[in-house]
Amino acid sequence: MKSLKKFRIIDLINWAEVYFKAKKFENPRIEIEWLIRSVLKINRIDIYLKFDHVLSDQELKTLKSFIQRRLKREPLQYITNSCEFYGMEYFINENVLIPRPETEMIIDIAEKALINKKTPKVLDIGTGSGCIGITLASRNKDYDILGIDISDKALDVANRNKDNLSNISFIKMDILNQTPKGEYDIIISNPPYIPLKDFPKITKDVRGYEPMVALTDQADGLTFYKRYMNIVDNILKDDGQILLEVGLNQHPLEVKKILIEKGILDVKLIKDLNGDNRFILA
Ligand code: GLN
Repeated sequence: MKSLKKFRIIDLINWAEVYFKAKKFENPRIEIEWLIRSVLKINRIDIYLKFDHVLSDQELKTLKSFIQRRLKREPLQYITNSCEFYGMEYFINENVLIPRPETEMIIDIAEKALINKKTPKVLDIGTGSGCIGITLASRNKDYDILGIDISDKALDVANRNKDNLSNISFIKMDILNQTPKGEYDIIISNPPYIPLKDFPKITKDVRGYEPMVALTDQADGLTFYKRYMNIVDNILKDDGQILLEVGLNQHPLEVKKILIEKGILDVKLIKDLNGDNRFILA
């Protein structure tokens, strides 16, 4: 077999910086570093220490296929099967939503809300990769967490991320048609909230690759919040709380209205770091 031309890490970085830039990628350098790190299974520092490392033919072949996928706008996180959330690394694939940095704040809000509770019971609805529940479980050993999701394939991912944590478990459940057993101190959810009419407007890398079932309710973006209000009396303790991620523009106010109409008095909108209303705590 004819061997491929020899490339060092630094040659590939230099090449990709120009090439990705021409293809209108915003962070060419960061992108190629992530791809190389994923192929070689090394961390960021190693890239710099091993600038002169020559990739094997096999490594080069894998990198080439990763670059081709990225050029078709597949999200980097699906190509590398990894995503960072709240400082922890999660395995992900195309069966789960890519955890968003905006969502990280939900961890702080939940922990603050539960500060005076002893061994709080937490329900994470639509757990996906498990990022919310698992982050809470690993940081708070006294929490007792159940994550539910309608997708078997998402639950496979969540269970893989769970590692050996004993204070969290996952079960399959269709929350729109089934009701979890037991009463919880807090219900947390980042449900599919993009209205179907807005779906064509979202970017191609999201629309083309992330699971539709995790993004939109195929209706007005409010289906899950309405359902939660229908079952909340059965699954929440009397002094329990509900913590939900919400969308952009009018969406937070629409959700707030649904909660108020249910008779919940104390409904707080909380802004994310971009200054957008992003969470509701009630
Ligand atoms: N709970 C997961 C997250 O916040 C998945 C949410 C979803 O798929 N809608 O990333």
